[in-house]
Amino acid sequence: MSVLISNIGELVTNAPSDSSPGSVAPGFAALRDAALVIESGQVAWTGAACAAPAADEVVDAAGRAVLPGFVDSHAHLVFAGERSAEFASRMAGLPYSAGGIRSTVAATRAASDEQLRGNLARLAGEMLAQGTTTFECKSGYGLTVADEARSVALAAEVTTEVTYLGAHVVPPEFEQDPAGYVELVCGPMLAACAPHARWVDVFCERGAFGADEARAVLAAGAAAGLQPRVHASQLGYGPGVQVAVEAGAASADHCTFLSNGDVDALAASDTVATLLPGVEFSTRQPYPDARRLLEAGATVAIATDCNPGSCFTSSMPLCVALAVREMRMTTQEAVWAATAGGAAALRRRDVGHLGVGARADLVMLDGPSHTYLAYRPGVPQIAAVWRGGVAVA
Ligand SMILES: [Zn+2]
Repeated sequence: MSVLISNIGELVTNAPSDSSPGSVAPGFAALRDAALVIESGQVAWTGAACAAPAADEVVDAAGRAVLPGFVDSHAHLVFAGERSAEFASRMAGLPYSAGGIRSTVAATRAASDEQLRGNLARLAGEMLAQGTTTFECKSGYGLTVADEARSVALAAEVTTEVTYLGAHVVPPEFEQDPAGYVELVCGPMLAACAPHARWVDVFCERGAFGADEARAVLAAGAAAGLQPRVHASQLGYGPGVQVAVEAGAASADHCTFLSNGDVDALAASDTVATLLPGVEFSTRQPYPDARRLLEAGATVAIATDCNPGSCFTSSMPLCVALAVREMRMTTQEAVWAATAGGAAALRRRDVGHLGVGARADLVMLDGPSHTYLAYRPGVPQIAAVWRGGVAVA
């Protein structure tokens, strides 16, 4: 069965063949007055609306914009409890520190599988309703072998992009023996988690894990078949980006405090710089310097970092608006970063674009162009969502 979406005011494809002289962001491409055909869950045809082929079913977009579904390449959704009191005190002037993670760890350990599954389903549904059709999901609030193993197993029920983050923070019971905890993360915990995960991640930051510990975690993960990604330079300057690039990580995430060497290393590598502007919005930290990264030639993605501590939003449209208004990205750069950029950060070629053969993951906006995501911040604008060619929202 084929579906023709016709009368599309702007169809963002990010397909090289559609890039126009008007495009000011590398990779961004869009067609005006366009149509798209879905068949067998994939994009089968795109082009001018007046040249569209017949299909079994026709959807009239009525001049609205259609974009690739958002790819949220960084989220922590397996947890229990919430930290609104911590947020309120932070807004009253207290700084954010990595230690707040421990309160979520305690709540997560105490929760039943059903509670965690329910929370995860609610957040995944929230994401889908806001146009996110692919998301990554990390463990990291269990921090025991059993709790990390169930975290990645639960994440695997809702996404294929599962990340083992045993090295999120050193749990209280290992406070006097951080080396012993790294051994656990690289040994029995990894063995229990690797069958459910695609990625291994480490929070390389003062107060969390240092460069040598991060290298050990990524190397052990790689030996178990997991691909690396790194939390780098969220709270201050540090070795995270260099560790990520050395390890051939798909992405270095946060990138809020970068040296010139860090920017050069990202620009010269395949490691995507994933910026998480919801975090700076929610912690009142300075935003990452997206322009410096883009001008150096680095690949930039944006993602939510949805988690109960530093940023409890699941909204990619909000992150696009923040990227434009606070990080000085153009609307095209921000939309590319939230779609194709996220796909690059997950090393996925089937999502993040709407070229022929792509998975038919689409968002229809209640507006005539992608610009509306930043132009009308905070306004519900997701008119419809298709995932794998099926209308889901
Ligand atoms: Zn994170």
